[in-house]
Amino acid sequence: MNICYIVAMEAEAQPFIDQYGVKKVEAFFAPLPCLLYQQQLSNGSTLNIVVNGTQHGSSLIGCEAASITTLKAIEQLHPDLIINSGTCGAFHKHGAEIGKVYVADSVMFHDRRVMGDDEWSTQSLGNYPVYGRSKEIADALAMPMGKVTTGSSLDIQPCDLEIIDQNGGQLKDMEGAAVAFVSSLMSVPCMLVKSVTDIIDGGENTLEEFRRNLAHASQELSKANVRIVDYLLAK
Ligand code: SAH
Repeated sequence: MNICYIVAMEAEAQPFIDQYGVKKVEAFFAPLPCLLYQQQLSNGSTLNIVVNGTQHGSSLIGCEAASITTLKAIEQLHPDLIINSGTCGAFHKHGAEIGKVYVADSVMFHDRRVMGDDEWSTQSLGNYPVYGRSKEIADALAMPMGKVTTGSSLDIQPCDLEIIDQNGGQLKDMEGAAVAFVSSLMSVPCMLVKSVTDIIDGGENTLEEFRRNLAHASQELSKANVRIVDYLLAK
């Protein structure tokens, strides 16, 4: 199996890269800043971890970078499965805790408000398919599932919260729906794995909470990803 992880920030991917000793492949996506780490696994399988890379001295986050990275990864690596792995904000009211890792049962955008007919609002919200084995994997590994909603901002505005609540959103990120969108266009299955760095309804400053919990959440994400890869290779 050819598995391709798409991860926004190097800090989110590092524990996972270290765990497998995955090697960087120099200049694979040049001139784009996204970076490939690649490792051959036991039974002829390949593990690819692609991170967005940097611009202006910091890791590229958000939908634009995620879309480009996903498209290039699919075109150049021909994966059987895309897995978007990253951090997210989540809600106490839905039982979230820092470092808890979820598998997405669905994914959509929450900040693309396009008034008009159903066709347009359906397109803007997205609601892309997730990998058909997501539930089987989450159940087998006793991981919780939730709906990922994606927007271009780290903060939360009342109009975003309204759309998230109306649609049963639980895990708020900045890349998931973009990765799933490109994967759906390219007919490659897409699974999403998200670790909680901040509690949206916890009353704390989101950026401070994110920074404080990033290392821990990324460690938990790595542990979950190792179990997911092991499971995928075994079955
Ligand atoms: N680079 C910044 C912080 C980026 S936080 C810094 O440390 O200075 C945003 C990243 O974490 C995005 O990739 C997003 O997918 C994820 N994320 C974590 N919590 C989030 C939240 N509450 N809302 C949206 N995205 C969140």
